[in-house]
Amino acid sequence: MDKKHSKNLSRVQSMVDGTYGGKIQSGYDGEVEPVRKVGDSWIDSDGTPWEQRNGYKVKGRLATSNITHHSWDNKCSGCEKLILKPWDKDTHKADGRCYHCQMNYELDLSFDKPIRWYAYRRLKELQNMKSIEKELLQWVDELEKQKQEKIYDMSVANAMANSNVEMSIKKNT
Ligand SMILES: [Zn+2]
Repeated sequence: MDKKHSKNLSRVQSMVDGTYGGKIQSGYDGEVEPVRKVGDSWIDSDGTPWEQRNGYKVKGRLATSNITHHSWDNKCSGCEKLILKPWDKDTHKADGRCYHCQMNYELDLSFDKPIRWYAYRRLKELQNMKSIEKELLQWVDELEKQKQEKIYDMSVANAMANSNVEMSIKKNT
């Protein structure tokens, strides 16, 4: 299709759309909007600044500031990291915490306050959350292992401390 033909066609199209003669037609002389990358910024023919964000464009004041789209502004109430990962979104929706903070919270409850933790777990079950993901279980296992190792280290340290005490007692007697 030659340029003149496509221009005529776009005129006909704009008449159908009811936009003929309007501003919308001003850039239609074979101009193709360039492909923008995330973070690209530019100024259009009206002098309005634009910036390409991930999946959408912002213009004007937003394009020159660091304010991101509202839905990207979810933060964990614990560590304040942005909630971007699907598993973080899951726990954040229910508890306002990211995945790891939520697990920490539950583990703290289970270790320090067993009854409170039991009640909390029951509540969660009753709310019928999604079944626990494999990853989550692995993470808990990992954390358990770390705790066990810490307990083991402590008992070794205690044993050594005790033998030192015994040795020094023997020396002194
Ligand atoms: Zn967190």
